[in-house]
Amino acid sequence: MVENVSKIIECSNNIFNKGLVSGKAGNVSAKVDENIIAITPTLKSLNNLKEDDIVLVDLDGNCLTKGKPSSEVKMHLEIYKKRKDINAIVHTHSPYATGFSFSNKKIKRLEGFGQINNEYLSSIEYEKPGSSELAIKAAEGLGSEDVLILKNHGVICIGDTLKEAESLAIFIEESSKTQFIALTLNSIK
Ligand SMILES: [Zn+2]
Repeated sequence: MVENVSKIIECSNNIFNKGLVSGKAGNVSAKVDENIIAITPTLKSLNNLKEDDIVLVDLDGNCLTKGKPSSEVKMHLEIYKKRKDINAIVHTHSPYATGFSFSNKKIKRLEGFGQINNEYLSSIEYEKPGSSELAIKAAEGLGSEDVLILKNHGVICIGDTLKEAESLAIFIEESSKTQFIALTLNSIK
């Protein structure tokens, strides 16, 4: 348990330092056991969280420790309920991928990380952050994929481990940056 909590803190620091999240945005969770997840708190920057800040919740959303979980806790729980095979979720508003999410351009799945099942990353239409609608749509939209773009909002990456979900989030942001550069250069006459 303590191991998972320290891994969440490490992952949160990494994605903050890489600029994938800023301010108080983004959230990270990991399974502690079959029915309990550990998740980052609401209204706190992911930079330099303390062990006490991490909140434990059961799959019904009941808090098992003090503190308030991320406002996206429902989304995390819905995904864990649908995807029994995963143990970690990283949600960012990384600038390039999120920029694409505010545009009509899709993000291609580039070579370099995991299997390419579809040419483009899956995405779902906008739902209010923190809402049950977003939670349900995100869990459905993810299907068997490991990345989901939330239109006009951000990115979800999942994995067997936090390290895997974190690496994927970094890869997706780098891929989006590459594609942004290519689109920009190609648009110059
Ligand atoms: Zn968000």
